[in-house]
Amino acid sequence: MFMPTLREVPSEAEIPSHQLMLRAGMMRKAMSGVYSYLPLGYRVIRKVEQIVREEMDRQGGQELLFPAIQPADIWKLTGRWEDYGGEMFRLKDRGGRELCLGPTHEELATITLRDETRSYRQLPKLVYQIQTKFRDEIRPRFGVMRAREFIMKDMYSFDRDDEGCEVSYRKMYEAYRRAFDRMGLHYIVVEAESGAIGGTHNHEFMVVSDVGEAGIVFCEACGYAASEERADAAAVPEPESAPSLAADRSHARTIATPDVRTIDDLIGFLGVSPRQMVKTMVFVADGEPVAALIRGDRDVNEVKLRRALGCASLELAAPEVIEEVTGAPVGFAGPIGLKQAITIIADPEVLHVVDGVIGANAADAHIVGVRYGVDFTAHRVEDIRIVVAGDECPRCGTPLKGARGIEVGHLFKLGTKYSSRLDARYLDEAGQERSVIMGSYGIGITRCVAAIIEEYHDADGIIWPMSVAPYHVIVLPLNTTDEQQLKVAESLHSELEKLGVEVVLDDRDERPGVKFKDADLIGFPVKVTVGARGLAQCRVEVGLRRGGQTTMVGLDEAATYVSELVRSELALLSKL
Ligand SMILES: [Zn+2]
Repeated sequence: MFMPTLREVPSEAEIPSHQLMLRAGMMRKAMSGVYSYLPLGYRVIRKVEQIVREEMDRQGGQELLFPAIQPADIWKLTGRWEDYGGEMFRLKDRGGRELCLGPTHEELATITLRDETRSYRQLPKLVYQIQTKFRDEIRPRFGVMRAREFIMKDMYSFDRDDEGCEVSYRKMYEAYRRAFDRMGLHYIVVEAESGAIGGTHNHEFMVVSDVGEAGIVFCEACGYAASEERADAAAVPEPESAPSLAADRSHARTIATPDVRTIDDLIGFLGVSPRQMVKTMVFVADGEPVAALIRGDRDVNEVKLRRALGCASLELAAPEVIEEVTGAPVGFAGPIGLKQAITIIADPEVLHVVDGVIGANAADAHIVGVRYGVDFTAHRVEDIRIVVAGDECPRCGTPLKGARGIEVGHLFKLGTKYSSRLDARYLDEAGQERSVIMGSYGIGITRCVAAIIEEYHDADGIIWPMSVAPYHVIVLPLNTTDEQQLKVAESLHSELEKLGVEVVLDDRDERPGVKFKDADLIGFPVKVTVGARGLAQCRVEVGLRRGGQTTMVGLDEAATYVSELVRSELALLSKL
């Protein structure tokens, strides 16, 4: 067998799944972010694929295979040839035609279905593939978690109308739930932002893990869950007696704040709390500067700000722009006396800041004792802050919990984003031409493998759930020079194979300690140890990797016992 294990933790691997995939001989690095899957690793990948395939088929999906290499022109029609930027692997053929290695397949799926679809009678359709994808990540890391070449399942739904799309979407939601349950993964389904794929509505399936790259907030009381970048803030009530506030006497006064460079410096210098600060952040939205006001202990959520402003591009303003807008060096921006009349948008919490501190739009100066509605106002008040753990749930008010998550699946409603640009239309019952309504649904197959390992491992190695284990059982004779032990082990191995159990025989001439270490590292769910002491009583030891319990079982019944054990574990996972 080709299963080269490693004793040492490879130095380039930072997280358990990456370390264990290398150590357990599942894969080897070909170059940065690109891996060869060795036999053990590839067996696990194929099992994860098969679970996903069965659940796609159960919902009426049809498997096909698009090419990994794609023509540039279809990407130019949707504008994504530019939008994808450096993340897309681009190349030219010998005739000079531009091509790419597919980072995803919305365009190709749309034109393929478009060319064969005329009538409403041909809809709906659900097609999917399990395909290698390519993304030239700036910083590939964590092994297959963020790789440049990886395996993904992508499904595309084509429906007549929004109601039809909703049905397809729900089918996929159910398929995902079943598929991840069968893999043994524990996950949270969150409302998410759509990013480069675009669309109107979407969910992510996140496996909770400390090594996850995405922040999640969730409510244990009502079940609300969202990615940090998507989470809505709980409504902040209007400040009490707002009209009379305007009549309040202003307590504002400008004070010198020399040698104050950071927010922390300022808080220390003035002896105020961060909640008294009102930060004024200057952004450039579609080429126009805007100011965003947010409480000092908060951060602006640029996704929300972009949505609130309805702009296509948004970035923090460069120092020159800030100086032009405020008439002061960077660090002293404030909503009073800006040099340019620009749109000011405030987060609702700013309205509640009492005895506040703002920049004075002059070097080394701040204004203290300010209050919204008395000393300054904004053109618009909108939720533009990043929600964090401890904030109130936007649905029920309970404090939110925070977690890190690994995104293993994503559901998008695309509407007509691709069908309108690529002319995917059909004739409805009245003979009217309409755009097809689409959805796109991805599962990161290789990332699932890493997520499973993150959830199922200990100091000794991987603890595979039975459904995705590379093999169910290892038969381990302690001493292969003992003919009786070897004979018993070999016959157990072939009996188990006949019973349909996936089984490995460790007949290497190695010390028992080495064999046990490898068995635990690779994580076979069941280990059958054949040793002299047990055989003297006609028994072998059956051990479970999870929990570590062992049982002595008579030789006659050993194969049946083990195969029943395997079958009951598999049944448990498939019933979920
Ligand atoms: Zn709640």
